[in-house]
Amino acid sequence: MVKEMGYYDTLGVKASASPDEIKKAYRKLALRFHPDKNPGEGERFKLISQAYEVLSDPKKRDIYDQGGEQAIKEGGVGGGGFSSPMDIFDMFFGGGGRMQREKRGKDVVHQLAVSLEDLYNGAARKLALKKNVICDKCDGYGGKKGSVEKCPNCKGRGIEIHVQQIGLGMVQQIQTMCSDCHGQGEQINPKDRCKNCNGRKIVKERKILEVHVDKGMQDGQKLTFRGEGDQEPGLEPGDVIIVLDQKDHDVFRRHANDLIMKMEILLVEALCGFRKTIETLDKRMLVISSKPGEVPALWMDFTTEFD
Ligand SMILES: [Zn+2]
Ligand SMILES: [Zn+2]
Repeated sequence: MVKEMGYYDTLGVKASASPDEIKKAYRKLALRFHPDKNPGEGERFKLISQAYEVLSDPKKRDIYDQGGEQAIKEGGVGGGGFSSPMDIFDMFFGGGGRMQREKRGKDVVHQLAVSLEDLYNGAARKLALKKNVICDKCDGYGGKKGSVEKCPNCKGRGIEIHVQQIGLGMVQQIQTMCSDCHGQGEQINPKDRCKNCNGRKIVKERKILEVHVDKGMQDGQKLTFRGEGDQEPGLEPGDVIIVLDQKDHDVFRRHANDLIMKMEILLVEALCGFRKTIETLDKRMLVISSKPGEVPALWMDFTTEFD
């Protein structure tokens, strides 16, 4: 018995869920509620990642099962406190752990729905993405050469400092992003701005990625397209990471490299023997037969090799 179901409910899994089921639940929800795709769901995204952080760690899960959220928050776990949802996301999807992240644009993660047939036979899929690319009319400069000048409002620092009187002889300094240049520290005279990107240095472009799903690939497997993320001047573009999401199959369930199906048979078939055909994922017909009295139960499992 677990004390509370909160984290399990957040991920939509049972208290008895296996580590794999927890991973899978997190993967689906984190992609669905990621702020890139769902800017209004930041709180939800945070809760999902906290639930995952606890339930994916056997020690923390144990503490939670016994003492609930209270026990987790009271510490005992790495000084308490949760990791940032973005860090967990990056770690999970493989974007994290790289040095010099500030010099790289961020990775973009997309989910690609595939059928069990796709994973069994292999498949090629096209995925259309919108991405930012450096404007080729101005080479990411934003306007005519020499037209970029220091923002006069912030003198190139990108920040504004407001001084506020808060009491007799006391002042408070507040720093905010410069509203004129949006923190860029520079500006371009409107008449010199590049017409193509309107001075933004980047433009949106539609890009088709060809995703090759190889035979035998797994649900949740990641395919990385190096440097296909958004471009930004002065930054190395991040990667596009495609995560395969296998849809449930009507007949077969995959277990490692085996396919499992349950076939219901009649009592009379069990007693007297039967002959049935099933269609495999590569459209072959397999004949299943039993001799009278051979089937010990009304259920029978069989497996077939998953290449
Ligand atoms: Zn400025
Ligand atoms: Zn331009």
